Amino acid sequence: MKRLFATACVCALLLISGCAGKPQAEINRTDFVLGTVCSIQLSSGGSDKTADAIFARLRQIDDTMSANKDGTEIAAVNAAAGKKAVTVSADTFYVISKALEYAKKTNGAFDPTVGPLVKLWNIGNEGAKVPAAKDIKAMLALIDYRKVEMDPAKLTVRLPVAGMRLDLGAIAKGYAADEAVKILKAQKVKSAIIDLGGNIFVYGKKKDGSPWMVGIQNPYSDRGEYIGLVTGHQMTVVTSGVYERYFIENGKRYHHILDTKTGFPVDNGLVSVSIVTDSSIDADALSTSVFALGLDKGMEFVKSLQGVYAIFIDEKDRVYLSPGANNVFKLTDSKFTLSE
Ligand code: ADP
Ligand code: MG
Repeated sequence: MKRLFATACVCALLLISGCAGKPQAEINRTDFVLGTVCSIQLSSGGSDKTADAIFARLRQIDDTMSANKDGTEIAAVNAAAGKKAVTVSADTFYVISKALEYAKKTNGAFDPTVGPLVKLWNIGNEGAKVPAAKDIKAMLALIDYRKVEMDPAKLTVRLPVAGMRLDLGAIAKGYAADEAVKILKAQKVKSAIIDLGGNIFVYGKKKDGSPWMVGIQNPYSDRGEYIGLVTGHQMTVVTSGVYERYFIENGKRYHHILDTKTGFPVDNGLVSVSIVTDSSIDADALSTSVFALGLDKGMEFVKSLQGVYAIFIDEKDRVYLSPGANNVFKLTDSKFTLSE
């Protein structure tokens, strides 16, 4: 079996800095956290301490919300499935609640209880292969966001069935980006880029006053090439795509966004969905949600929201924009066509 997966050390989105020569006081930091490569650039305001504080916060979020390592709050909730309720921090409670909100809004196309299926497929890790049908069926039976018991007074979470597992992989990086932005605000940073493995937040104004430009990754080329640019002063741009994490078996690509009905990777003709808005937790949840919903239902969902733009790319190199997205996004690669 040939196995491939995109490593996390390159970004899903390319940032076009547009400036020749680095301004002197710029602070750049890159580190592996949240299961991916995270970079921050403080281009105006802030200090090394700001960068330290941001990375400390990212690590803390990883250490409480990861489903993939021991000792986190999510691991404790998962280990207690079918048994007891577990007290979590207000942060974790909030992120789970947000995930459950999106689960409700998408009728379970987005579902943070997808954990058993994520673990079974193991996509992005060594040895991933298509699981046996009976195993997929068994895991599907454990997925149901409506069963998660949340007690806001006690900050407890309970998974009522043994084997249930929460997975916040589709939303935690967005939350983390928003938390990084809180630090930028508190420390009076004027201009910065937060890039958590392609989950981008461009903050404040660029030094020269020109708008930020964020490239939307070409889903077929090696990372770095983009099909078009999103332009704006302060915004988050988050993409979910088939190229993020995947493996190939018998010539077929199996990627990491799973269909909670079939138990297989979502297979609806889309190759990526990018969301542009001002809250990264929403952008992250939405990019996965809209991808899982598909073009028609996903477009309807985006239309029901204020200040949210979506850029869809399908297998036939067609690009679909939600209403108003044409004001922020410009297609630059002529191999792709804009569709109505
Ligand atoms: P990335 O992690 O590359 O930024 P996403 O935000 O789209 O991409 O999240 C994908 C991750 O979300 C998967 O790796 C898995 O942990 C989890 N996931 C997979 N399918 C679903 C789903 N249907 N609903 C919610 N989370 C999912
Ligand atoms: Mg997401």
